[in-house]
Amino acid sequence: MQKLGLMAKMDEKKYMKIAADIRNLVADLVEKGTHQDIAKITRFVAKKFGLNERLVNYTHIEARNKLNEFKFRKIPYKDRVLFISHCLRNSTKCKAPIGDEGLECKRCGKCQIKKILELADELNYRKAFIVPGGSMVFKIMQKYKPKAVVGVACHAELNMGIDKASEYGIPSQAVMLLREGCKDTAVNLDEVVEKMSLIEENGTNALENKTPKKLN
Ligand code: SF4
Repeated sequence: MQKLGLMAKMDEKKYMKIAADIRNLVADLVEKGTHQDIAKITRFVAKKFGLNERLVNYTHIEARNKLNEFKFRKIPYKDRVLFISHCLRNSTKCKAPIGDEGLECKRCGKCQIKKILELADELNYRKAFIVPGGSMVFKIMQKYKPKAVVGVACHAELNMGIDKASEYGIPSQAVMLLREGCKDTAVNLDEVVEKMSLIEENGTNALENKTPKKLN
């Protein structure tokens, strides 16, 4: 059992390394203007690294992130809303009740959600929600009308969320789970920090520019 846990950790480390390489290459392609099309970027990166399906999905999300980034950076933290998939909670130890707007986290520290919520507070995000899925996300978006959103979830949920946000003209950033499944999932916290803290480097919002502490 311990060996299996160790292997999972090694797989996650390998995944994080290749994910960082993918982010760099996607950024390069978009910044140089050689590729502005999500499908083309995904195909190019997948071929270059010989990616499996999961990492192709990751590349697809990252391409969407990169193409949204310019507009996203312009939105002050206080006008952004964060959505976290509730599958990140500790399924056996979590005592948080579920309300109309998702899981009401008690910040017990038994899963990564506590740290992500603290980051949202530190950056002064308008609000953070821990949600079971797309329908609640859309209801919340209609109610709070955020100017930008960040999502932490699996590939399918993120894709739907980005589509919906685009429909409303809202720029988004998405962080795909490191370990997927319906419960006890995990995310790369460095990537959460990276996406949540994106802000324009010059201009009015630059004053807000903060370097949050690492969450790991
Ligand atoms: S940190 Fe929040 S969501 Fe995670 S287990 Fe504790 S109460 Fe549940």
